[in-house]
Amino acid sequence: MASDESEKYDESCIFCLIAKNQDEETEVIKQNEELVCFRDICPAAPHHYLVIPREHIHSCCSLSREHIHLVERMTSMGRAVLKEQGITNMEEVS
Ligand SMILES: [Zn+2]
Repeated sequence: MASDESEKYDESCIFCLIAKNQDEETEVIKQNEELVCFRDICPAAPHHYLVIPREHIHSCCSLSREHIHLVERMTSMGRAVLKEQGITNMEEVS
Protein backbone atom coordinates (compact mmCIF):
# COMPACT_ATOMS: atom_id res chain seq x y z
CA MET A 1 0.00 0.00 0.00
CA ALA A 2 1.73 3.14 -1.18
CA SER A 3 1.02 6.31 0.72
CA ASP A 4 2.46 9.79 0.78
CA GLU A 5 2.42 9.69 4.54
CA SER A 6 4.23 6.38 4.81
CA GLU A 7 7.37 7.86 6.27
CA LYS A 8 5.50 9.18 9.31
CA TYR A 9 3.26 6.22 9.81
CA ASP A 10 3.98 2.59 10.34
CA GLU A 11 1.04 0.42 9.28
CA SER A 12 2.08 -2.36 11.61
CA CYS A 13 2.13 0.01 14.57
CA ILE A 14 -1.09 -0.04 16.59
CA PHE A 15 -0.41 3.40 18.05
CA CYS A 16 -0.02 4.93 14.63
CA LEU A 17 -3.28 3.33 13.54
CA ILE A 18 -5.02 4.72 16.60
CA ALA A 19 -3.52 8.16 16.04
CA LYS A 20 -4.97 8.11 12.55
CA ASN A 21 -8.33 6.78 13.77
CA GLN A 22 -7.74 3.62 11.76
CA ASP A 23 -8.38 1.25 14.63
CA GLU A 24 -12.08 0.58 15.09
CA GLU A 25 -11.67 -1.12 18.46
CA THR A 26 -10.21 1.95 20.06
CA GLU A 27 -12.26 4.67 21.63
CA VAL A 28 -10.47 7.98 21.26
CA ILE A 29 -11.35 10.21 24.21
CA LYS A 30 -9.53 13.37 23.35
CA GLN A 31 -7.17 14.58 20.68
CA ASN A 32 -5.47 17.64 19.32
CA GLU A 33 -3.06 18.30 16.49
CA GLU A 34 -0.21 16.80 18.50
CA LEU A 35 -1.61 14.16 20.85
CA VAL A 36 -4.25 11.46 20.99
CA CYS A 37 -5.76 10.09 24.20
CA PHE A 38 -7.67 6.81 24.08
CA ARG A 39 -9.05 4.14 26.34
CA ASP A 40 -6.80 1.14 26.74
CA ILE A 41 -8.15 -1.85 24.81
CA CYS A 42 -7.27 -4.22 27.66
CA PRO A 43 -7.64 -2.04 30.71
CA ALA A 44 -5.49 -3.03 33.65
CA ALA A 45 -7.32 -0.49 35.80
CA PRO A 46 -10.95 0.73 35.72
CA HIS A 47 -9.81 3.97 34.19
CA HIS A 48 -6.83 3.30 32.04
CA TYR A 49 -6.11 5.82 29.35
CA LEU A 50 -3.11 6.22 27.18
CA VAL A 51 -1.83 9.41 25.64
CA ILE A 52 0.36 9.12 22.58
CA PRO A 53 1.90 11.62 20.20
CA ARG A 54 0.72 11.40 16.59
CA GLU A 55 4.34 11.25 15.53
CA HIS A 56 5.84 7.77 15.52
CA ILE A 57 8.01 8.06 18.63
CA HIS A 58 6.33 5.61 20.96
CA SER A 59 9.36 3.95 22.41
CA CYS A 60 10.83 5.54 25.48
CA CYS A 61 14.21 4.69 24.04
CA SER A 62 13.63 7.00 21.12
CA LEU A 63 12.60 9.91 23.32
CA SER A 64 15.22 12.56 23.59
CA ARG A 65 15.60 15.81 25.48
CA GLU A 66 13.52 17.63 22.88
CA HIS A 67 10.61 15.44 23.86
CA ILE A 68 10.54 16.48 27.50
CA HIS A 69 7.97 19.19 26.83
CA LEU A 70 5.97 16.79 24.71
CA VAL A 71 5.91 14.30 27.57
CA GLU A 72 4.74 17.06 29.91
CA ARG A 73 1.91 17.88 27.54
CA MET A 74 1.04 14.18 27.33
CA THR A 75 0.87 14.03 31.11
CA SER A 76 -1.28 17.12 31.37
CA MET A 77 -3.66 15.83 28.73
CA GLY A 78 -3.92 12.58 30.68
CA ARG A 79 -4.78 14.53 33.82
CA ALA A 80 -7.36 16.61 31.95
CA VAL A 81 -9.04 13.46 30.66
CA LEU A 82 -9.18 11.94 34.13
CA LYS A 83 -10.74 15.12 35.48
CA GLU A 84 -13.34 15.08 32.73
CA GLN A 85 -14.11 11.48 33.63
CA GLY A 86 -14.70 12.59 37.20
CA ILE A 87 -11.63 10.94 38.66
CA THR A 88 -9.97 12.88 41.39
CA ASN A 89 -8.15 10.12 43.21
CA MET A 90 -4.95 9.71 41.22
CA GLU A 91 -3.94 6.71 43.32
CA GLU A 92 -6.46 4.56 41.47
CA VAL A 93 -4.85 5.30 38.16
CA SER A 94 -2.03 3.30 36.75
ZN1 LIG B 1 3.81 4.24 15.60
